[in-house]
Amino acid sequence: MTKADPARIARHLDELGAIGADPAGGFSRMVYSQTERQAHRRFRDWLEEYGLTTSTDAVGNSFGVLPGSEDLPALASGSHLDSVYQGGNFDGAAGVVAAVEIARVLAAGGGLRHPLKIIAFAGEEGARFGAPCIGSRLLTGAFTEDTLRQLADRDRITAWSAAREVGLHPEDATEARWDPADIACFVEVHIEQGRVLEARGRQLGVVHTIGGSTRVELTFEGRADHSGATPMWLRRDALVAAAEFITAVERRAQRHATTVATVGTLQVQPGSLTTVPGRVVLGLDVRDIDSERQRELTESLLDDALRIASGREIHITARQLSDQSPIVLHGTVQNVLAAAATRQGYSFISMASGASHDAGHVAKQIPTGMVFVPCRDGISHSPEEHAEPAHIAQAVDVVVDAFRDIDAGAEV
Ligand SMILES: [Zn+2]
Repeated sequence: MTKADPARIARHLDELGAIGADPAGGFSRMVYSQTERQAHRRFRDWLEEYGLTTSTDAVGNSFGVLPGSEDLPALASGSHLDSVYQGGNFDGAAGVVAAVEIARVLAAGGGLRHPLKIIAFAGEEGARFGAPCIGSRLLTGAFTEDTLRQLADRDRITAWSAAREVGLHPEDATEARWDPADIACFVEVHIEQGRVLEARGRQLGVVHTIGGSTRVELTFEGRADHSGATPMWLRRDALVAAAEFITAVERRAQRHATTVATVGTLQVQPGSLTTVPGRVVLGLDVRDIDSERQRELTESLLDDALRIASGREIHITARQLSDQSPIVLHGTVQNVLAAAATRQGYSFISMASGASHDAGHVAKQIPTGMVFVPCRDGISHSPEEHAEPAHIAQAVDVVVDAFRDIDAGAEV
């Protein structure tokens, strides 16, 4: 039987790497940019070469379909082709290239009873418009045309205009919604983006849960004063309050193994060496695979912020940016993937995903699984990101085996 070909996977990744290489380093294939669209066209070219029929919907998700011999819902796989600013060439791309290879292997074997659907989602990364998984959320109906009109990038270009600008039709977003009944099962291959697989010495991960995340923007409002003329006792330094808060975030998050909390953005105003910081805006991201703990920690941290601020005569405002619950992936799909990995002779662990993925949104409607591939040193969202084509090929072998198993009657 045809096996996945690491050399072909490497070649496809190289072809993608030629699209959106950022002069400043890494790859910038931003959602609804010409480079993202170019990557989608390349994706369709590959699939057409393997005999699939391809299309791109009104909001930029691209598909390839290999018909089945029977009238059944499709088996589907895919990921995304956009990146963060100056990201790597593997986050998303590895899963799309894997899905293309799944199609090639299955097409070479004469196809299945089920149709096969290969997907490149538009705009998974939240880097440009703040909201991640735009394409998959439009497909599942969680996002609408209005959402696209509300989301704007740092140049105040809305997702709606950006989509129009690259030739898409956001005004027809409703038509892009899929009928979940058309898909029997979805599996996303993705790089792990962490170090667990390397540390445990396993070839693959079968994901059981995608962690939830609550994101809050906090503003600490104090008073900007002359740094020389204002004695310490008269200051209302917003940055010192924020610093105290940030250490509280670290302390509280350390109390549970599955919890992570990060302050990843910080704006200090007026941002002058000789002025006491009057205003600080920071971004807090709280994640867990337990939704109660995720919400409780966020609340405790907001209480901390209030307490710290009141002691320093600082005024606090908080704005929730997003709130996603953890998603438990389908046990039946996990079992089929684990059985396939065992048959293929690859070592694997069942693991949680700290990062969010399109699969999490698909899972709300369709039985869904994820297969993680190790990435070197766990580095991701960086030009240094790397996954071995041979490891991606192993994930392809597992999904192909799992799809054949489902096609032969295994329950999902
Ligand atoms: Zn990704």
